[in-house]
Amino acid sequence: MAKEALLIIDMSNDFVADSGSLTAGAAAQQIVPYIVNLAKQALADKQVVAVCMDTHQPNDDHFREWPPHNVEGTWGHQLYGELGLWFDSVQGDPNVWFVPKESYNAFYQTGLANKLRGCGVDTVHITGVCTDICDFMTAAGAYDEGFKTVAHRRGCATFTDHHDTFLHQMTVCFHTEVVD
Ligand SMILES: [Zn+2]
Repeated sequence: MAKEALLIIDMSNDFVADSGSLTAGAAAQQIVPYIVNLAKQALADKQVVAVCMDTHQPNDDHFREWPPHNVEGTWGHQLYGELGLWFDSVQGDPNVWFVPKESYNAFYQTGLANKLRGCGVDTVHITGVCTDICDFMTAAGAYDEGFKTVAHRRGCATFTDHHDTFLHQMTVCFHTEVVD
C-alpha cells in the first residue's frame, strides 16, 4: 500500500477557539473529534500526520490583509483543545510532523513536498480550516507537487457559506476525492 499523509491545517486557538482572533468558531470546533479520530487511525496505520500551522512574526506583512493571528509563541498559535491534547500525547513519534507555514499553502517554502516524497507518500488527506482559504490553497499546492488529494467534508470547515462550493472546486481543479 502506498503511503498516505494526513494534513491538519491551521487548527490553532486563533482560528478555532471562541476567543481566537480570526476564528471560524463553532464550525471549526465541530470538526475536531473527526480529525482526532483520523489522526489516531493514521498513526495506527503507520501513516504520516503533518500538523501544518500558520506561523507569523508580530510585524508580518500578512497582517495588512488580516487581523494579527497565529503569532509564534502565543496561545493563539497553539493547537486547539482536544487536538492539542492529542498532539502532546504523541510527541516523539517520528510520523508526526509540525510544519510551520507563512503562506496559505502548506507546500509553499516549507519543504513538505520533498519530505513526503522521501517517505514514499503519494496521497495527502486535507483537513482543517478554512475550506475556502488554506485548505483550498494547500490542495492546489499538493496538486502542483504531483500528489493525489483527498478532502474530508466533515474534517474541513470555514466561517463563510462557501464550504461545499470550494470542495467541489477542488474536484474540478485538482481531481480531489471528497470523502463525505
Ligand atoms: Zn496567516
